[in-house]
Amino acid sequence: MNSDLLLPGSTKSEEQHRREICIAGRWMYDRGYIVACEGNLSVRLDDGRILNTPTCMNKGMLAPRDLVITDLEGRHLCGDRKVSSELAMHLLVYRMRPDVQAVCHAHPPTATGFAVAGRALDQALLPEVIVGLGQVPLVRYATPGTPELSAAIEPFVPHYDALLLANHGAVTCGPDLLITLTRSELDALIDEAVRKDRARR
Ligand SMILES: [Zn+2]
Repeated sequence: MNSDLLLPGSTKSEEQHRREICIAGRWMYDRGYIVACEGNLSVRLDDGRILNTPTCMNKGMLAPRDLVITDLEGRHLCGDRKVSSELAMHLLVYRMRPDVQAVCHAHPPTATGFAVAGRALDQALLPEVIVGLGQVPLVRYATPGTPELSAAIEPFVPHYDALLLANHGAVTCGPDLLITLTRSELDALIDEAVRKDRARR
């Protein structure tokens, strides 16, 4: 088995989930979706446990042992490191969406440009994104890691698998890590939409 691949599905050993989060972190880093200590990833394990990336580490250079396990209330269960300040946002999604098995937060540069400009990725603007992902609404600005950010995203979580956070970045979720990561490829979808739009002119 190629150890650099993400396997579809969410029924995997904890060891495999740990490996795959590290692969996904490298993938985001290689595409410039995160730099330095930005971004975070998580996966739902069994028994309401959540496997999270730690704070203050480059997510492109994680080892499986760096990851931290919490429960759905954010209580630390396993791991030497501290969890990210965005943990509350991840846990909110898991609590509201029993179908979600993975959550990804990154700063894809083009999508983040839309978020900074205060623009959602909607039908009129980018039809190809809508086909690939559905509407991507813009959530009003709130400071990362605060209850205000959780409150801002809460109304959107039941209805969308990808959100733009104003002046900040993107959050995606899905039934496994592979699909969640693919949904975070917002920049590729936007580039494709722009290419097609130019070709039509
Ligand atoms: Zn961020």
